[in-house]
Formats: sequence, C-alpha cells, structure tokens
Amino acid sequence: MRIGCGNFYYMKRLFLLFFLFTIHLLPASLCAQTRADTIPFTMDEDEMMDQTDSIIFFPSNEIYSGGLYASDLYTSGIYVGWDTTNIHTVKADMKSLNDSVREFALYSDHNCGYVHPFSGRVTSKFGPRKKRYHYGVDIDLETGDSVNVAFDGKVRIAKKSKSYGNVIVVRHDNGLETYYAHLSKINVAVGQEVFAGDVIGLGGNTGRSRGSHLHFEIRYLGHPINPTEIISFDDKKLVSNMLCIDNATFDYVSEAKKAAAKNYASSKGKKVHVVRKGDTLSGLAKRYGTTTKVLCKKNGIKATSTLKLGQKIKL
Ligand SMILES: [Zn+2]
Repeated sequence: MRIGCGNFYYMKRLFLLFFLFTIHLLPASLCAQTRADTIPFTMDEDEMMDQTDSIIFFPSNEIYSGGLYASDLYTSGIYVGWDTTNIHTVKADMKSLNDSVREFALYSDHNCGYVHPFSGRVTSKFGPRKKRYHYGVDIDLETGDSVNVAFDGKVRIAKKSKSYGNVIVVRHDNGLETYYAHLSKINVAVGQEVFAGDVIGLGGNTGRSRGSHLHFEIRYLGHPINPTEIISFDDKKLVSNMLCIDNATFDYVSEAKKAAAKNYASSKGKKVHVVRKGDTLSGLAKRYGTTTKVLCKKNGIKATSTLKLGQKIKL
C-alpha cells in the first residue's frame, strides 16, 4: 500500500518549506531542498532544518502542547510537548474530554494508511492479567523478524528500557502514539520521520519478556487505548477509518482499578513480596492496591530507594 507515499513526502516537505519561507526563518535558497537522503544539505541548513523539524514541526504539536506556541514551551533546551527521554508522556486530564468527542481519520489520501506491525498470532490481549494490567497486544514472532511502523509519524523514543527492552515510540499526526517493545534491534533514530510499513526494528526478547514477541501499544495523550478498538488483528486491517475518542475509550481504567483491588484481596494472605527483575515501588503499590508512601513506611525505606533482587517487601 505504499504507492504514492513518496509523493506525499514531497508534498509535506514542500508545505513545510513554504511555511518556513513565509515566516522568514530560512533563506529562499532552502526551497530547493528535498529529502535529506537524496540531496545532501549543507551543514548549516541541515542543522537548522533538524531544529525546526524537531521543535516546531513535531506531529500533533497543538494536542500535546495544550494549544500553546512552541516558543512558549521551549525552555532550557527541552521542549515540553516532545519528550525524547521519558517513554510515557504525562497523562493528560481526560475529564477535559467530557463534553468533547475527538474524532479523526486514520487513513486519508494524504498519508500512507495502515500497515500491520507484524503478521503473527496474538498471544496476549489488552486487559487485566494475573498480576498487572496489560496495556498492549502481544504478537508472536521470531527474533530478527522485521517490525513495521503502523502509521506515518516521527520517532519520539528509540532506546533501551528495563521493562520494554529496546523500544520505539512513534508519534502520529492525529496525536496517537504507537509503541514497539522487546526489539532485538532498533533501526531508527529519535526525530526521524517514518512512513507506514517502514521496517523500524527487528523483533526480539529484550526487557521484561518471556520468549520473543512484539509488545504493541497505542496511546493518546499518555493514556493506553485498546488496540482492538482500532485494528482487527485477525484481518490485519483497521476496524474503521475513523477513530472516536471520548470518555468511554478509557472505561478500562475502572476495570484496571478493580483488578488491582482483586490482587490486593488475594495478596492479603501474602505478607511479603520478593523483589524480582523489573519491580519498582510504584509498580508494587499499584499491583497490591496500596501506595508508595505506605510501602515505604512499612519497610523503612525511601521512595527513591533502589530495590534489590530477592529483597522482601512487607505488604
Ligand atoms: Zn505485552
């Protein structure tokens, strides 16, 4: 489905260049530039383009910056709406969606549409698990299998994490973010523009993972969305072209709380938790339906303490 995607790229780039030209940020000579990998930039212009690309033109600027202009949010070298260090963005207050429904197209003539990340069997769905809520869908694969980016977008995160292993987070123009975790190899860099179907990495078994698989997540303003609301994993296609986000999209939160309460109830007989790989105090608090503060008090530790493997935590 990638026919015409190249043309779209040029259109988008032309629009960007036109915009830059009209706001007199760059000299007119820049308008001759096209894709970086086909026509080399001079050093200065390249740097300038990188900067403007990453600061002003990151996808869905208006959604993540709360309607403020980039210049207001760009302080001390960190752009508030475009965090390239923390995997999860700060969760937005979804109560603000009470009266408004956000509806947008997932596919149009102006983008490359949808490409399934990997055509494998779903081994674990979105929803409550025994111990913790599963915020994504697991797709079976072999280490080294190609993983495709689902939609056009820009890479916000490309790094190694304790739990996700090698993980890539891509932000899309409509504000959605897709996560690709437990990869054996990352093929992209932060700030890189990607197009649906690009091989952004290779599947693997890194981080908190038992057996090679792809952990695939979709989030909006930091909140996970059940991917099956958007994608049919049997057909490997979008369920619908339109996505409607309202409060009901996040109904699972109350389900998650119930699951945490249930875990807490079942853990009542259990007085200690033995620390395992990937455990954090906040994670344990969530799992056992308590707070970090209570756990710290009971165990005489600080919230900033590092947990050791095998350490016994009183519940
Ligand atoms: Zn998973």
